[in-house]
This record gives sequence, C-alpha cells and structure tokens, in this order.
Amino acid sequence: ALISSAEHVFEYPMVDKDALPRWSFERVTLMGDAAHPMYPRGSNGSAQALIDARTLADEIEAEHDAGGDLRAALQRYQDARLPATARVVETNRTLPPDFIIMKADELSGGKPFDNIDDLISQDELRAISDNYKQIAGFALKA
Ligand SMILES: Cc1cc2nc3c(=O)[nH]c(=O)nc-3n(C[C@H](O)[C@H](O)[C@H](O)COP(=O)(O)OP(=O)(O)OC[C@H]3O[C@@H](n4cnc5c(N)ncnc54)[C@H](O)[C@@H]3O)c2cc1C
Repeated sequence: ALISSAEHVFEYPMVDKDALPRWSFERVTLMGDAAHPMYPRGSNGSAQALIDARTLADEIEAEHDAGGDLRAALQRYQDARLPATARVVETNRTLPPDFIIMKADELSGGKPFDNIDDLISQDELRAISDNYKQIAGFALKA
C-alpha cells in the first residue's frame, strides 16, 4: 500500500568504478570512496575506507620516524591498498558477499523453501563466506 500510494518512487542504481591507475600525486592522495567507489555490499565501503586510514597512518608514522619523505609513504600506501581494493570492486561484480541470495534463488528455482540446508550444505555456505572475507581482508587470520 505504501508503494502503490506513493506519488513518486525514486530508483538509485548501484554504481562503482573501475580501478584508477594511481591515487597519490606528490603530497596528496585519495582514500575511501574517492579512491575506490564500490557496490555497497558486504559491509565493505566504509570498512575499506577504515583499512585505508589505518594503512596510511602507519605509513606516514613510519616515514616520519625515519625522517623520510611523505611522498614515499603515500606511494607505499597506494601500492598496498590500490590492488587490494580493486580486487574487492571486481569481486563485488562477480561473486559478491550476498552471492548466496542469487545461489538460493537458482537452487530453489525461485520457489519458497523452508530450510536452507535442503538446498546447500553448511560447508558450501562457509566456503562462499570465507572466500569473500579473504578478498575483503576480513579473514580472522589476516
Ligand atoms: C545506500 C548505501 C549503503 C551502504 N551500506 C554500507 C554498509 O552497510 N557498510 C559499509 O561499510 N559501507 C556501506 N556503504 C558505503 C559507505 O557509506 C561509504 O563507502 C563510506 O561512507 C565512504 O566514506 P568516505 O569517507 O570515503 O566518503 P563519504 O562518506 O562520502 O565522505 C565524504 C565527505 O566529504 C564531503 N565533501 C564532499 N565534497 C566536499 C567539499 N568540496 N568540501 C568539503 N567536504 C566535501 C561530503 O559531504 C562527505 O561528508 C553504503 C553506501 C550507500 C550509498
């Protein structure tokens, strides 16, 4: 009723961007969504921005302690985080963390079911989840 009586319904597409060739320019760098906008799936947009912040802070501190050049710290930050976040962007397009929703729809033929265990084993579910955690840097071991 809420939807059918609404005067306007806005639709927002899910948007991401291909990986940029570089983030760091002299003493300026990019982080968070400015560096790697990705589909908001799997708690990863702000989580990746936080990992950026941690990495950048560590690199700046190390460079400062060594009396070095900020530009070297920004380069190391980019080298560590650009490929890692590019993998998350690409994985979100093909095998996202909510891939199980598509998989369950496929396995059930789009029909209602009572128990997910009738469709897929717990081991397979865990493998899907662990694979994404590994790529996103959320794996407990990492
Ligand atoms: C619908 C939706 C759901 C999401 N769900 C999740 C989720 O569940 N988990 C998760 O981890 N992430 C989620 N995200 C992604 C997450 O919100 C972003 O990845 C995160 O906010 C990026 O942080 P940021 O600081 O890089 O950028 P932003 O949060 O966009 O911050 C940039 C800031 O800069 C300000 N700004 C822009 N231009 C200027 C200017 N010229 N001068 C001064 N200030 C300026 C903006 O106002 C803004 O406050 C979701 C995103 C969307 C859209």
